[in-house]
Amino acid sequence: MSIPVLLTAQSTISPSDAKLRIIAIGAHPDDCDIKFAGTAAKFAKAGHLVKFLSVTNGDAGHQTQRGVELAQRRRAETQESARRLGIAEYEVLNNHDGMLTPSLEVREQIIRAIRQWKADIVIAPRTNDYHPDHRYTGVLVQDAAYMVVVPNVVPGVPALRRNPVFMYYEDNFQEPTPFRPDVAVSLDDVWDLKISALDAQVSQMYEWLPWVDGRLADVPTDPAARRQWLSKTRSRPISPAVRAALEKRYGADAAQIQHAEAFKLCEYGRRPDGEELDRFFPR
Ligand SMILES: [Zn+2]
Repeated sequence: MSIPVLLTAQSTISPSDAKLRIIAIGAHPDDCDIKFAGTAAKFAKAGHLVKFLSVTNGDAGHQTQRGVELAQRRRAETQESARRLGIAEYEVLNNHDGMLTPSLEVREQIIRAIRQWKADIVIAPRTNDYHPDHRYTGVLVQDAAYMVVVPNVVPGVPALRRNPVFMYYEDNFQEPTPFRPDVAVSLDDVWDLKISALDAQVSQMYEWLPWVDGRLADVPTDPAARRQWLSKTRSRPISPAVRAALEKRYGADAAQIQHAEAFKLCEYGRRPDGEELDRFFPR
């Protein structure tokens, strides 16, 4: 299909004159929280509308629970996480965990979700992730990036007249290319809130992920102690590339920042310049 020249040439996003509508898409019902909860909380505090969408129901992510019981538990955890963050919505699609494929059926679910949210910004994983569900979520969102403006595709939901901005979460994968941030956000003032959202994901943060890592015995049982443990184990050193992106936005203060999230612009969708990205991402 041809390049949507008319759609990319339309006006820019400006948070001062409108609420932004952001949809963060993850494969599992804790992925958006891990990659984006801090920035999401800042967007929400500034009055913008944030939705998290999990493409699978998470029904494989546990060592002793499974199936409907696990999916229901994880759905409840997403709702508590959303409540703590103050975001508008957390939706979980009913596709099986660990079995996601980049099918036409799921592509259409994603096209529908992006359109119904009338998204200005869509955020998803890159397609070189270790987990097949993450990887295919990245592929599915890329496959939806142009189709969301094509009225004859999924005709039951009105096509967007303007292509959203598509972005990627930060990751550490080096091949074929390392993650290069286009915008970075300091989380120091919302770190406790991010940890509070992750703390709502009990089945993952305190049970499944420590079990996978062979350190289930390290998780404290006392609620306050385990939250502290979560904060400590979730803290990561800021990479030189993200530190440089922080310096662009925060100047000399960037050297003191301890926690950050960073995002890369996708080549598909609308491509705002650095100045516009800086303007609409929260500080
Ligand atoms: Zn995941």
